[in-house]
Amino acid sequence: MISVVVPVYNEGPNLPLLMDRLEAALRAAGKPYEIVFVDDGSRDNSLEILKGFVGRNGVRVLELTRNYGQHSAIMSGFSVVRGEIVVTIDADLQNPPEEIPAVVRAMEEGNYEVVGTVREMRKDSIFRKIPSRIVNVMTRRITGIRMSDWGCMLRAYRREVVDRMVESQEYSTFIPALATLFAKRMTEIPVGHAERHAGASNYNMWKLLNLQFDLLTSFSEFPLRVLLYMGTGMAVGGMAFGILLAVMRIFYGAEWAENGIFTLFAVLFFFVGALFFAFGIMGQYIGRIYHEVRKRPRFTIRNLHGE
Ligand code: UDP
Ligand code: MG
Repeated sequence: MISVVVPVYNEGPNLPLLMDRLEAALRAAGKPYEIVFVDDGSRDNSLEILKGFVGRNGVRVLELTRNYGQHSAIMSGFSVVRGEIVVTIDADLQNPPEEIPAVVRAMEEGNYEVVGTVREMRKDSIFRKIPSRIVNVMTRRITGIRMSDWGCMLRAYRREVVDRMVESQEYSTFIPALATLFAKRMTEIPVGHAERHAGASNYNMWKLLNLQFDLLTSFSEFPLRVLLYMGTGMAVGGMAFGILLAVMRIFYGAEWAENGIFTLFAVLFFFVGALFFAFGIMGQYIGRIYHEVRKRPRFTIRNLHGE
């Protein structure tokens, strides 16, 4: 059985077409299926429209109590799936549902645990593309996770991988990256990409930046290591500078040193700035620890509509 998990946040105008195309694509795949729509606290009529789909073959609607964000919404869907192969897809029709059979086929033919996708000819604005290209390269380097296209959510996971992700009670996480921790056999296939059918992206620069930070701090200690190197470098530099000042004073007298007073200010500012930077990063990790120890639920399900 195939389970498709669709996070939905204010996607009202996209849903009827999405439903029709999903249904057609899954029928074409010729396997039993279920579609789990997760209403992530939408403020428009998305939930009503989704409830209207209940009763159509395999449709279930998970109603969250508020907006938890795309990844938590998907995770809540994961917690109720029943299929052996679990596919995630966006609700805005940017990932063509028609690609689902190909993704499933790739998984079965290669006996893979995770099938990722790479968007061919991405249809996004340049302001959405450039940041994600930077994000792709940077995260690949820092986390060491081999994934070509971090943003594409049309992906398939074996049920075991999904169950392990649900079990790992991490608060803020990035699902495609988390999956790589629990799977060995992974592959990527190219898929099409379309413009958003209706509405605007729920991500702005700010949300993307936050997501990126979550990703970095949850999958690597790289920022901490940078701090360490920087701190060491600065301490050595500061010491050398102090020695230089002392030596210069001996040779050229106090006058010279006095003229250097503004240099000292510059040095001070530099160190204070670096300190703030260091505290900021440490704060990020402490914030994460705080999140984890509180053991707050990642999502709260109000209702599950449909059988
Ligand atoms: N989404 C969600 N909760 C949110 C934001 C987004 O469930 O808080 C869903 C949204 O409905 C869509 C998917 O996540 O199905 C991707 O969102 P969007 O298209 O806005 O992101 P982009 O394609 O620009 O990365
Ligand atoms: Mg989108």
